[in-house]
Parts: sequence; C-alpha cells; structure tokens
Amino acid sequence: MKILATIAEMKAAVRAARSQGQTVGFVPTMGFLHEGHLSLVRASKSTFGLTVVSVFVNPTQFGPQEDFKTYPRDLARDAAMLEKEGVDILFNPEAGAMYPPGYGTYVEVQGLQDRLCGASRPGHFRGVCTVVLKLFEIIRPDVAYFGRKDAHQAIVLTRMVRDLNLDVRIDVRPIVREADGLAMSSRNTYLNPAERQAALVLIRSLRAAGTWIAAGERRAAAVVAGIREMIGREPLARIDYVEAVGAADLGPVETIEDGTLIALAVFIGKTRLIDNAVVGPEGKIW
Ligand code: AMP
Repeated sequence: MKILATIAEMKAAVRAARSQGQTVGFVPTMGFLHEGHLSLVRASKSTFGLTVVSVFVNPTQFGPQEDFKTYPRDLARDAAMLEKEGVDILFNPEAGAMYPPGYGTYVEVQGLQDRLCGASRPGHFRGVCTVVLKLFEIIRPDVAYFGRKDAHQAIVLTRMVRDLNLDVRIDVRPIVREADGLAMSSRNTYLNPAERQAALVLIRSLRAAGTWIAAGERRAAAVVAGIREMIGREPLARIDYVEAVGAADLGPVETIEDGTLIALAVFIGKTRLIDNAVVGPEGKIW
C-alpha cells in the first residue's frame, strides 16, 4: 500500500492507474478506523481496481467549541488496518495543503445543510461538502462510499453531486454496530465504562420505535415523544435532537411511512453520538 501525503502525488497515482484502464473506488474517512470504515473499504475492494482511502481530520467541519484537537488519531494503526484489507493508496494530506493561506472557496447545500445535525453544528456540512468536493477533484473516483451511520451527510453529499453534475456515484452502506447494538464510531473511544453502557439508550430507543411502528403507530410526534421519554430516563444522556423526517428533503413528517428517517443525536456525558433508522415496508426499521 502506498501512503501519499501530497496532492500532486495523489493526482499522479490516479492518473497512472486510469491510464492502465483501472477504475477507482474511494472511501473518505477521518481515521481512527473501525469495522464501519472497513465495511466501506471492502465494498470498494470487491468492485474496483484501485481503492483509495483518505484519512484527514477536516478542520473546516468542526465548530470552535468542538473536538477537532482531541479527535482520536493514529495513522500507524490505520495504515496497518488498511494494508491488511489490501487497500492500494492511503491518502493523508496535511491541513495546510488542503487549506493553504488565503483559502476562501466553500460549497454549501442550502436547505439540507441546516437541518438535523446542521442546526446544532452550524457550518458543519459546509466543511464536509467542501472537503469531499476537493477530495473528489483530487482522486476522481468512479464511486465514493459513505456509511448510513451519517445518514444526513450522505443525503447532503448526494444532493451536492446531483446539483454540481459531478461524475461520481455515491454508494451508501448499512450501519455497522457493536455486538450490543451501539453504532461504531471513532468517538466511542471517548466514553468511560458507565457512559458506554448509557450509550445503548440510542439503539434501545430506535428499536423500541421499531416495535411501536410495526404495531401500527404512524404518528411521528408520538414516536418521537416515546423516544425522547426513553432517552430522558437515562441520567447520563442529554438529547440534542430526535426527529422523524422525509429522507428526500429532511423535512419533518407528520405520518411515518416507508423511507421515513428517524434520526437522533444525544450527548452521553460530553460525547455527542448520532444514530438513525429508516422505516421500511411493514414498518420494519433497519
Ligand atoms: P468518519 O471517519 O467518522 O468521518 O467516517 C467516515 C465514513 O465511515 C463515513 O461515510 C461514515 O458514515 C462511515 N462510518 C462511520 N461509522 C460507521 C458505521 N458504524 N457503520 C457504517 N459506516 C460508518
């Protein structure tokens, strides 16, 4: 596996692979990898000649009071995991190269960017869209893989690709969970043992919502209230948002239907965790 740090080297490597007829799969990450990331890597590996994974903790998507400085980083560990998966290129650019002095160009997906996580993290999706567009320009992938763990992010990026007529397909993959149901996240490492236990309230409440919906409850307000009540009973948890929205526009819905996204963000102690479920046929959630 090649580890490339400069944009010029990365562009040259993709150009060389393409000139030999290889197609390119791309997995953007912020590193501190886990099985959720690796599921995306495996999807790319099974389809593409060249698989590129970026590890870049993107400063522009963090608010001033957020965890940019403390976000877990371990490039040697990430590289060993990716090498084992047979990844071709690990791209690990410097922040100063991605955002040189005087940098002033940003991408916004208006409307969608302000909902759910966007409301509590102003500027977050502007940073995400900007870095992902830059990475797309550098790597020129045929397909880019994202996890439904960050459902809102996948929806915003899919809209960006459509609006800007980008020549890349976004492939959104299922949420990978720990054995007890907690959605894998690099931020789970922040949790102490009591918080780790308390964090299960996210999946517990989504699963409970699934049983209410499967039993016929279709009133979004009732489902949201039920989830809020369950989370409210967990002393270490503080709700950021719980919403039932349409997956196309992320607007709140009154009635739960196939495709409704139930998304939540909850602080467990100081750690903000997100999770979600999509309502499928017969009210099953997944
Ligand atoms: P991150 O490193 O957190 O920015 O995540 C990089 C990519 O991995 C994003 O597309 C995430 O949605 C995806 N991802 C993170 N956690 C999971 C998970 N538990 N299951 C599936 N995909 C995930």
